[in-house]
Amino acid sequence: MTAVAASLSILRPTLAALAAAGLLLAQPLARAADAHGDGHGAAPAAKPAAKPAAKPAAADAHAEPAKGGAHAAPAAAGHGKAAPPPPSGADPMDTLRDKLAQKLGAAKAPDAPSPYVMRVVAKSGEELHGGEAGKVIKKLRTEKAAAGHKADPHAAHWSYGGDGGPEQWGQLKPEFAKCSSGTRQSPIDIRGGVKVDLEPIQFDYRATGFGVIDNGHTIQVNLQGGNAIEVGGRRFDLVQFHFHRPSEERINGRQFDMVAHLVHKDPEGRLAVVAVLLDRGSAHPLVQSVWNNLPLEKGQEQGARVQMDMNHLLPADRRYYTYMGSLTTPPCSEGVLWMVMQQPVTLSTEQLAVFTKMYPMNARPIQQASGRLIKQSN
Ligand SMILES: [Zn+2]
Repeated sequence: MTAVAASLSILRPTLAALAAAGLLLAQPLARAADAHGDGHGAAPAAKPAAKPAAKPAAADAHAEPAKGGAHAAPAAAGHGKAAPPPPSGADPMDTLRDKLAQKLGAAKAPDAPSPYVMRVVAKSGEELHGGEAGKVIKKLRTEKAAAGHKADPHAAHWSYGGDGGPEQWGQLKPEFAKCSSGTRQSPIDIRGGVKVDLEPIQFDYRATGFGVIDNGHTIQVNLQGGNAIEVGGRRFDLVQFHFHRPSEERINGRQFDMVAHLVHKDPEGRLAVVAVLLDRGSAHPLVQSVWNNLPLEKGQEQGARVQMDMNHLLPADRRYYTYMGSLTTPPCSEGVLWMVMQQPVTLSTEQLAVFTKMYPMNARPIQQASGRLIKQSN
């Protein structure tokens, strides 16, 4: 508190002046604020998705394998860190705002300062003159809580196009660095695989309960426990599956209408993803069951009243391609075992249209294979 009080008193006259001049804009703070965030530019998306933390189902493919929980890694890293230094050559006013944001963050605020912090300061500059820092910060926190998560949705929020698009993922947050620096990234164009007698994947799937969530990047199905695969002497539990349109992976250059990624995790947190390609044809009952349970609101998981048997999503022919790659969404962590089923399954044009309406394009561009070994079943 003392450190904060001191820095506030240093900043006080300047802030007051800026406030008086109406120059304290909320906007630039969003950058600093987001550095603390847990990647929920689309606030409603990440929150509830992360909520069933007890349930491994919260893990999305987009998890950090080395650190266990899917959202745990980015969130923990995000909340603990100070705002990044302002870019060199930054406007001195920006620097001042960033500095204040850091100080407020350092004051053990339960959450990052939001743009609303600055609005409050501008409105009630006298608070800064009269009250002690603790009181001010308390008030700011309250204001912030009331204001809710309205951080700039573009700052540090990843997407599939425009601001925050795939080319920028690696620069959005330090923990996303692998997205640009990684050399074993996914997806890839699968070609030139060596044909060998690959061990069959042992699918130990059964009918279980499930819930559907629109997490702001895709439609994801969280499954209750009891589903697993065994491969390479390891047992991986099925945590969730989700969709991309079009398929992220290509087979000899060919892209499919969609793909389902079945995300599995072993007790050490290692990830194994089974990809099932979806091609237009007859309607798919399991896909329909997911669509039937689509939640009306983003970020809110809808529990289904029926069960789902994941065996029904698998193609009859269980031959597959396999290679080592990464998550295809930030943080793009590597060390993910990929198994892409060679035979696609079908969904109808109408079923495809349902997903297209929500996510017309949510596929990361193809990454360099960089001489990685690809194996495929004979
Ligand atoms: Zn995926």
